[in-house]
Amino acid sequence: MSNGLITAAYIIAAILFILSLAGLSKQETARNGNKFGIIGMAIALIATIVSLNVQSIVYILVAMLLGGLIGVRLALKVEMTEMPELVAILHSFVGLAAVLVGYNSFIRIYTDAHSYANGAILNIELTEIFLGVLIGAVTFTGSVVAFGKLHGLINSKAISLPGKNKLNLFALLASIVLMFLFIHAGGSLLYLAIMTAIALVFGWHLVASIGGADMPVVISMLNSYSGWAAAAAGFMLSNDLLIVTGALVGSSGAILSYIMCKAMNRSFISVIAGGFGNAGVSVGDSEEKGEYREMIPEEVAEILKQSSSVIITPGYGMAVAQAQYPVAEITKKLRDMGIKVRFAIHPVAGRLPGHMNVLLAEAKVPYDIVLEMDEINDDFPETDTVLVIGANDTVNPSAQENPSSPIAGMPVLEVWKAHNVIVLKRSMRTGYAGVQNPLFFKDNTYMCFGDAKATVQAILNSI
Ligand code: NDP
Repeated sequence: MSNGLITAAYIIAAILFILSLAGLSKQETARNGNKFGIIGMAIALIATIVSLNVQSIVYILVAMLLGGLIGVRLALKVEMTEMPELVAILHSFVGLAAVLVGYNSFIRIYTDAHSYANGAILNIELTEIFLGVLIGAVTFTGSVVAFGKLHGLINSKAISLPGKNKLNLFALLASIVLMFLFIHAGGSLLYLAIMTAIALVFGWHLVASIGGADMPVVISMLNSYSGWAAAAAGFMLSNDLLIVTGALVGSSGAILSYIMCKAMNRSFISVIAGGFGNAGVSVGDSEEKGEYREMIPEEVAEILKQSSSVIITPGYGMAVAQAQYPVAEITKKLRDMGIKVRFAIHPVAGRLPGHMNVLLAEAKVPYDIVLEMDEINDDFPETDTVLVIGANDTVNPSAQENPSSPIAGMPVLEVWKAHNVIVLKRSMRTGYAGVQNPLFFKDNTYMCFGDAKATVQAILNSI
């Protein structure tokens, strides 16, 4: 294939990626967004393979077939609630790929350094390699820790090493010094290897020091890092499309991180610097405090029928239990009885951005009664009954009442202001952030224990 055709294919793929991102930004157009992305990636892969100057493409095809088979199997098997961990582990692959490409490029330059007549070009390539390996290594271990935390292999609470900010600063300064030494030496495996070790530890520490409730920001931040790692690999491989795609992922991930930080009232710099400035925050109290009252599904059905306005606040538990279908049926039944039913969606409810919206859309709950936190938070005081279905951190009043709580300052759904609050969950256990929820012990709150799907079905039967 001629260079002109390959460039044209790359431009078309890049445009399709931009259309894909635009499509994915709204629920109604998300399917088309996905299609654009798939077509763009197919064009990109074909153009890249035919442009390669290789003796045999058999190895590439075998590797792609194996990777594709594993990918399809994983995608078919993964539960919606496990999506963030899948994304996290995929980010780690991008990081690892950038590290490997970096070392490969270094070996190529090292064995061929004498052919660089122009020292400036050599310096530029060495800088690309150094930065690519640095970003890749941070992304790799950071994503592995994020995967561990989301999969429950690592405790989701933030670790706080003594002088953690100084450690991060040291890693950053040491990497800068090593970069100058590396370039000055015309490329040195020793400096590259020391920096890689520091970056791997830095990535691990960066994510390990962020608490469970801030994980959504970490995931979008690692998404951004993986984009920059891919862009760096694109520079090393002189592949324009990889640079463009990496930059698109990097910048959209950065924008998403910023939006998530604003939604959670967190400082962007603080989160990307590994919880910088959170030194005074305690790890949280997971002990039960006070007495709580229980209700059985039949009583819940009665309260719902007597209400004139109901707000449902779903969370991670609804997703795990797959309770969205009976929830949609309850909604329809209550609306048919003339009761005003709406959904309040917290921006980080569940385990991935937009998680609840996707589940409710899947169960065909009308879009117009599904409202974002800012749109509905003022309506709780005039609401008769709030049904909290498997949500915990996102309805926790300590975010407003307890300045030393790990979730302090995070905006929450003010459900406790409604006349009655009914919480559906299996036990008194804490949510993802690992802190107890004073909502459960308020006078107007009733606990209805059991798996969310079974409980909602029982309520539905009683209605
Ligand atoms: P939480 O994780 O705070 O709480 C979920 C609750 O659901 C638990 O307390 C659990 O209690 C209950 N539950 C679990 N399984 C079931 C079941 N089968 N039936 C009934 N209840 C069940 O959920 P929220 O959605 O309120 O908050 C999300 C949390 O996750 C936040 O801390 C957020 O920061 C974090 N996060 C969000 C991400 C995102 O992008 N949205 C990504 C990563 C983390 P019990 O065990 O007693 O049943």
